[in-house]
Amino acid sequence: MAGSGASAGPPRLRRALFVDRDGTLGPDLHYLKEAPRLELFRGVGNALSLVHAHGELVVCVTNQSGVERGLYTVADVEAIHERLNELLRPFGSSVDAFYYCPHAPEHHCACRKPGTELFERARDELHLDLASSALIGDSAADIGAGARLGVLTTLVRSRGHEREVERDLAEAGLVPDLRAETFESAVLRVLARG
Ligand SMILES: [Mg+2]
Ligand SMILES: [Zn+2]
Repeated sequence: MAGSGASAGPPRLRRALFVDRDGTLGPDLHYLKEAPRLELFRGVGNALSLVHAHGELVVCVTNQSGVERGLYTVADVEAIHERLNELLRPFGSSVDAFYYCPHAPEHHCACRKPGTELFERARDELHLDLASSALIGDSAADIGAGARLGVLTTLVRSRGHEREVERDLAEAGLVPDLRAETFESAVLRVLARG
């Protein structure tokens, strides 16, 4: 590296917990446009504050094809993410960074999960160590992205879509590393990995 002194060394890499948004942190409200309607599952605030207490970053990666479909705007998505952090504030927790794909699936972009581009951007911008990081999500697309990145994957039970998710996992030949009934129990299992 040009100009880097021997004593400076590379930046210290951090662990991240990558989390999906819809169906994982709160109910999937199907193309949610209005930030005030956002809800979080019980236990999410406390769970994310534990993640921070362990020195890990919370990074939310979400597919938001509603932008390209014209159902809501980038500003709507950003207002929802601000609202999400407002809901977390009473728990002393927050999401450190949000990354979203605004594209429709037919464009086959590299950033829509199970694509890994947003995770790689987060890795570079936030100096993350993927090998010791983890992901929690409720869909095969989440688990697929995590598997390609080599992070610990946890499938949280998707309310009402369990059979569809199992079918998608089987079709993609994916097996999550861990499974959990709730987001909170998923976080506890991830943090227990040491
Ligand atoms: Mg989801
Ligand atoms: Zn995309």
